[in-house]
Amino acid sequence: MASPPVVRFAPSPTGRIHIGNARTALLNWLFARRRNGTFILRFDDTDPERSKAEYADAIEADLKWLGITPDLVRRQSERMAAYDEAAARLRALGRLYAAYETADELDRRRKRQQALGRPPIYDRAALRLSEAERAGLEASGRKPHWRFLLEPTIVHWDDVVRGESHIDCASLSDPVLRREDGTYLYTLPSVVDDIDFGITHVIRGEDHVTNTAVQIQIFEALAGAAPRFGHHNLLTDAGGGGLSKRAGALSIASLRAKGIESLAVAALAVLVGSAEAVRPVDSLDELAGLIDPSHLSHGAARFDEAELEALSARTLHRLPYAAVADRLAALGVAGPKAEALWLAVRGNLSRLDDAAIWREVVEGEVAPIVEDADFLKLAVSCAPEGPWDQSTWGAWTTRLKELTGRKGRALFHPLRLALTGREAGPELAALLPLMGRARALARLSGQSV
Ligand code: GLU
Repeated sequence: MASPPVVRFAPSPTGRIHIGNARTALLNWLFARRRNGTFILRFDDTDPERSKAEYADAIEADLKWLGITPDLVRRQSERMAAYDEAAARLRALGRLYAAYETADELDRRRKRQQALGRPPIYDRAALRLSEAERAGLEASGRKPHWRFLLEPTIVHWDDVVRGESHIDCASLSDPVLRREDGTYLYTLPSVVDDIDFGITHVIRGEDHVTNTAVQIQIFEALAGAAPRFGHHNLLTDAGGGGLSKRAGALSIASLRAKGIESLAVAALAVLVGSAEAVRPVDSLDELAGLIDPSHLSHGAARFDEAELEALSARTLHRLPYAAVADRLAALGVAGPKAEALWLAVRGNLSRLDDAAIWREVVEGEVAPIVEDADFLKLAVSCAPEGPWDQSTWGAWTTRLKELTGRKGRALFHPLRLALTGREAGPELAALLPLMGRARALARLSGQSV
């Protein structure tokens, strides 16, 4: 049997994560979970200006809310010495070279190439500089950035999601690995970390396909074993556009604030654009059994917020009391009746917090709405004796039906309005025993209790 995989989720802590990022995190987490593997959270924080410790903490909290607890957390900012060492090795191998062009010069060159109908690939002019020219540039104060010398080969890999894949590196510019100020772009540190942490599978969005070809060449140059790669389709909005424009609204933090269930976010994040139907699940383990990177389709994965809300409600309707007891207690729904209340109301909720409303209805004070006082008086007069249980409502309304000939809404609605003070809500059969006889009869008599 293959040894357990080691995967990583590698966000840059330059903002909060959104549901599209959650897709990547979860696909890695579920992949590892299914195979007893290890999941590493790696912060790609080599950009000192944009990376913030607060964002890293928030990302960790967002993942925890989704049910993801990393086995290890690592930060690239703590591993600069390893990257310097790898850069020195690439230089010694002649695979990392200094280039002095400014952004403007590169831009002009690209435009010229395009005008001539040539692909805008970096022309490696830096490799043709004489020692004297180089010295002159340095003397004028120019600092080099550093490019990786690509071999003009076709790089092949067997993609975990997409199967046989290849990129012709002759059609790519030599990528910049290190900036003028000595900081690294993510490309090289990522490879160094993947080697040092023994990453076996890199599962990430298909926007990284080109990076993969480059990185496979860097793995080979550093004589490390390249992991397997898998590129999943990206979530798009309903129109097929990227989610980044709406990243704020679709951040994990804002979905949480809206009362969306974390399991619904997780289920939708990975089931959309897969071979499985979008449906509620009871646990991440169940999801791990349903989904694997190889089950993803190659087409678009359209994300629809309305679908998320509906899935969240359906998820809530199935959650057992044990799964929500802590959150209910935080809302003040606790004690011996809490489980029965949960089971009575869950099927009617679209957000868990609304359970507190129904606790008020059964235990707190309600202002009854009296639409038909005579009918309510009759209901009081024929109310079953206690103790009340689940069958009370049925027996009581059957009796009222016989006495009045009412049925449907005319029979039930005035009772609901008086008993709960609301137009709609969970089944009264389940609420009545929790409300108790005295409270119910008082409300039917118009008293606010
Ligand atoms: N920091 C990179 C990103 O967020 C990581 C990509 C990767 O998984 O290698 O896009």
